Amino acid sequence: MDIRLENLTKTFSNKDRQVETIAVNNFSFTIPSGHLAGLLGPSGCGKSTTLFLLAGLLEPTSGKIFFGDEDVTALPPEKRGIGLVFQNYALYPHMSVYDNIAFPLRNSKSFREQHKDARERKSEIDRIVQETAKIVAIEELLDRKPAQLSGGQQQRVAIARAIAKKPKVLLLDEPLSNLDARLRIQTREEIRRIQQATGITTVFVTHDQEEAMSITDEIIIMKDGIIQQIAQPQETYIHPANVFVAQFLGNPPINLIDVNICDGWIILNDRKAVKTKLQDGNYKMGIRPESFAIGTQDSEEAVAATVVYKATIGRDFQVRFNINGRLCEALIESDSRIETGDNVFFTMKRSGVHLFSTDGEREEIW
Ligand code: ATP
Repeated sequence: MDIRLENLTKTFSNKDRQVETIAVNNFSFTIPSGHLAGLLGPSGCGKSTTLFLLAGLLEPTSGKIFFGDEDVTALPPEKRGIGLVFQNYALYPHMSVYDNIAFPLRNSKSFREQHKDARERKSEIDRIVQETAKIVAIEELLDRKPAQLSGGQQQRVAIARAIAKKPKVLLLDEPLSNLDARLRIQTREEIRRIQQATGITTVFVTHDQEEAMSITDEIIIMKDGIIQQIAQPQETYIHPANVFVAQFLGNPPINLIDVNICDGWIILNDRKAVKTKLQDGNYKMGIRPESFAIGTQDSEEAVAATVVYKATIGRDFQVRFNINGRLCEALIESDSRIETGDNVFFTMKRSGVHLFSTDGEREEIW
């Protein structure tokens, strides 16, 4: 079932009814059925607000939300057919894992109406709990209490509880942030596997770019309540729509330099460095650290610079030099011969070079 937002806006006002924050500003997009979409952005950009609007826990100021063809904007959470998993999984501590998963079914009016006979209902609940436990790989843990589980296992129980009711839409709010680094990676792969096994359209909130990059079908990148880019994860890295997206994605971050285009050439360190189709003028150029390599005087699309710092980190040299008065960082393969003080021609891989107008929008260089 696809999820469609039409001009969705949520503002928060103060006591005098003056708008303080536009947390979600005119969102319109569709998440295709069966996809896992990531809401990604810095703290305060409106990720949780968007998720709460989808869940029906907040009412929009304007706009509409559709699940498939159904307008769910005015429906309360329990009528939307959603599964919710929050950062603190809030399992019922006194109940076994089995009862935690069964609880929402036992309490569901519609489930009770569908299965009126108590014995039949009990066996249907048992079937669903066993099936769901198998999907999230916790069959052996059904008799335990939450306190007897690891963080990752607890999170899987929370997901099982959310999917037992066969939701149309699964909403996950920073579900991994309580886990340690290794478990985070394991559990995010688990979430992807479970999501693909069930085919439930899922929205996943995170501020962690690596998390969003690794498991989503598409990323919705937000800043101050405004969508910056919606695209497949790789696409946002290779074709960032603006300076914000280029800077937000990538570690170490992209180098940003003020450049001038003169006679169809981008000028770097007083030298015609890159030929472009763009009009002459001032621009911002972004170059990813991993896109530099060592060239020669004859190399095309190269910048001449003096190495001011070099360190070995793992497989690479971390090298620093100035371009147009801005200190830049490059990661260069450590089989290169390069020392501090060397004058070097650095070539730049085209896929890692980006140009933006002075107001930050992407421009195509070639
Ligand atoms: P984080 O990653 O820190 O959880 P977020 O991207 O989820 O951030 P939201 O919690 O959606 O951000 O908040 C978006 C904006 O709306 C913020 O500026 C926040 O201060 C504001 N906001 C959220 N809830 C309320 C509220 N109930 N009343 C007033 N302002 C709010």
